[in-house]
Amino acid sequence: MASLDTLSAAQIAAGVADGSFSATEVARAQLDAIQERDTDTQAFLEVSADLALAAAEATDKRRAAGEQLPPLAGVPCAFKDNMHLVGTRTTCASAMLENYDSVFTATCVERMLAAGVTPVGKTNMDEFAFGSSTESSHFHPTHNPWDLARVPGGSSGGSAAAVAAGQATISLGSDTGGSIRQPAAFCGVVGMKPTYGVVSRYGVVAFGSSLDQVGPFGRSVADVALSMNALTAGGRDPLDSTSQECKLDFMTCVDASVEGKRVGIVPELMEAEGLSDEVREGMRRARAALEDAGAQIVEVELPNLSSAIAAYYVVAPCEAFSNLARFDGVRYGYQEPGCDTLAEQTALSRSHGFGAEARRRQMLGAYLLAAGVYDKYFYPAQQVRTLITQDYVRAFESCDVILMPTAPTVAWETGQVSDPTQMYLSDMFTISLNIAGNGGISVPVGLSEGDKSMPLAAQLICPAFADGRLISFASAIERGLGATGVAPAMAGRGGEL
Ligand code: GLN
Repeated sequence: MASLDTLSAAQIAAGVADGSFSATEVARAQLDAIQERDTDTQAFLEVSADLALAAAEATDKRRAAGEQLPPLAGVPCAFKDNMHLVGTRTTCASAMLENYDSVFTATCVERMLAAGVTPVGKTNMDEFAFGSSTESSHFHPTHNPWDLARVPGGSSGGSAAAVAAGQATISLGSDTGGSIRQPAAFCGVVGMKPTYGVVSRYGVVAFGSSLDQVGPFGRSVADVALSMNALTAGGRDPLDSTSQECKLDFMTCVDASVEGKRVGIVPELMEAEGLSDEVREGMRRARAALEDAGAQIVEVELPNLSSAIAAYYVVAPCEAFSNLARFDGVRYGYQEPGCDTLAEQTALSRSHGFGAEARRRQMLGAYLLAAGVYDKYFYPAQQVRTLITQDYVRAFESCDVILMPTAPTVAWETGQVSDPTQMYLSDMFTISLNIAGNGGISVPVGLSEGDKSMPLAAQLICPAFADGRLISFASAIERGLGATGVAPAMAGRGGEL
């Protein structure tokens, strides 16, 4: 008997291929674990049992017919609920799209399916991906598998929690300002935001089009590398004009040595207000693991990073306002009943279909884009964007990757952060990468000490399109410090093969 909790994606695919177990057995075990554990975590908005079993059966038939199976054959995978998958609803955790059935499948989901995954369901998120805690979901919050009283981070909190709780082996999320990396850090899993353009966003509901990027979660760096290979196989996606060809083989990066390579650190960032002692300790561990692996630490400067949050909260709401204008109650989503005029119907459908944070973002965006206001905020924000991008280009002249915290603290308690601006500050280390477009990865660096051990993490940042380095350096940290694995309170509840 094996437990899905301890099997990597590669081990599951190998076991399915060599007949140690069938994809159907894996699917049933995974669905069983989801049922046992989701009452605690509430990571899922929809469990797609029928799709999972049909996909698994198709995989088993291919094996029986003697076909060579794809690299993720039978691996249970969950998708953030802003990704279209025919046969499921795509709600973005909003009342606006509560009954919206996907009419097509997103390219990222298609590619995971082509790599053989078993789609187990759609995961919870902050409404329309606005947030850092998964508390703004219209349906319910998600709970951190390490401590159910705490948030899993966000906005891809359901995808991170599902992997940390052993409710899926891998999952996909989207990251506009930190929404893959921060929940990965809070839940003790690996989460990667590739360089802007590496993964197609076709079929992923848009938030900030110049910032959005899709990426994977896994319990190990290798699982994330395998997922990246799947997401980039097939080359550029003509359906997303920002998509670029990516020829990297991420699996070969897993064992690549970092000996003699340079890791940039920004000493001032360690003085940032609000940075907790636990996170500092995590950074010391990450640094030591990299040094033990033969990497050299060098100091670099990113002088404009402190303006990143301000620039983001101008650009992101403007783009969100523009993107979410399509939810007008006519073509999409919630329609207010009993209205006399189209204007009344649009206004009330939007007022009642969106939650508080989604309304706040759109009102802010509408204001910032108004004549007279635009010049004062939007242009300067774009200028700050250029400065931050240039900072990174200069910094990477003297290092191969940059190491910094993923988030300033460990996961906080549900309900503890009620002031939106305080919530926005939790992205102080993640946002600049979306502003500049570079790739980043969050990798676990063990647990905090104290009565409640919570996952700690480090973030690595690469120059644009050098995403293979994220895998190599994260892997070096993982080799030194170990992967965190399924949260102990969840392990072993269902999921036996
Ligand atoms: N927390 C950030 C925000 O609320 C980032 C969200 C995201 O990356 N989708 O905008």
